[in-house]
Amino acid sequence: MAILEVDNLKAYYVTQTFGRSSTVRAVDGVSFHVNKNEIYGIAGESGCGKSTLLKAISGLVKPPLQILGGEIRYNFADQQLNILDLKDEKQRRRLRGARISLIPQGSMSVLNPVRRIKKSFEDVIYAHLDVSEGEFEELVKNHLEALGLDWTVMHTYPHQLSGGMRQRVTIALSTILRPEIIFADEPTTALDVVVQRGVIQLIKKIKEEQQNTLILVTHDMSVHATLCDRLAVMYAGEIVEEGDVKSLFGSPKHPYTSMLLSSLPKIGDKSARVSAPGAPPSLANPPAGCRFHPRCPYAVDRCRQETPALRQLNETHRVACFLQEAGSMELQGRAANEQ
Ligand code: SF4
Repeated sequence: MAILEVDNLKAYYVTQTFGRSSTVRAVDGVSFHVNKNEIYGIAGESGCGKSTLLKAISGLVKPPLQILGGEIRYNFADQQLNILDLKDEKQRRRLRGARISLIPQGSMSVLNPVRRIKKSFEDVIYAHLDVSEGEFEELVKNHLEALGLDWTVMHTYPHQLSGGMRQRVTIALSTILRPEIIFADEPTTALDVVVQRGVIQLIKKIKEEQQNTLILVTHDMSVHATLCDRLAVMYAGEIVEEGDVKSLFGSPKHPYTSMLLSSLPKIGDKSARVSAPGAPPSLANPPAGCRFHPRCPYAVDRCRQETPALRQLNETHRVACFLQEAGSMELQGRAANEQ
């Protein structure tokens, strides 16, 4: 059962500078669903729109970001709601923390550097629960203990903790109210590989214990391979491929996904890694047709003129590329020759 359904979502940054309007189409017509209790990954290069997508679906929309179309529906056990119907920030805040929660990019953007950790927990818990001081302590102690953290961290300032410990505290803070959906935005960025492993294990442990749904955004494909059930690959504000992790990693169908995967190091393989040539386009003025065509080795005229739809290939796999259309023999032949 889908706990989250997103239909044709358009989230644009609209700015006015010296009377001139500029629109950055960061999320442009994105549709997907996330099943209850699954780990759904969102991958892509920096600037492809994945963090904006996370902001939009978690209701963290502030100017210049605007939602200009689409629907975001949550199907909780006891309630269904379209987050875009919540016009009041108070209503959105009630939803965040209690039912949906965000593990943000960079723990220092959550933890106030001049306040002890305990104050951050008080802010979150007292905003949603009517509990006594004793109940507060019991709730936090139990949660920290379950995550392998000690109560003493509550008396520290963020700068007294290592980066890894701060990230663990941030995760504890984001999950203390047992949200039904957790959004994690690059939770392992800027951490060394040993600490990354610990953070990944911690996220897995919470998910198993609390039985919640996790939506994980990261450019790190190895984290997706380790954690996710299904994965969406974004390019220039659009989903270009989506599938279960096994089939997507084993047999990618979109040239961009293939390039992302072939750029990863492989144990024992000393050949040069291949990455996508060039850079992602400006989302203020994306290319016509398939947005990947300036970097795609298989692009033909049709790719420059028409936008490929995200088509269902089979029960679990969707892809937006003319290469996968039954009638596109010219492209398929060309792709086969080049491989
Ligand atoms: Fe490449 Fe064309 Fe497929 Fe786009 S539609 S990824 S340009 S082959």
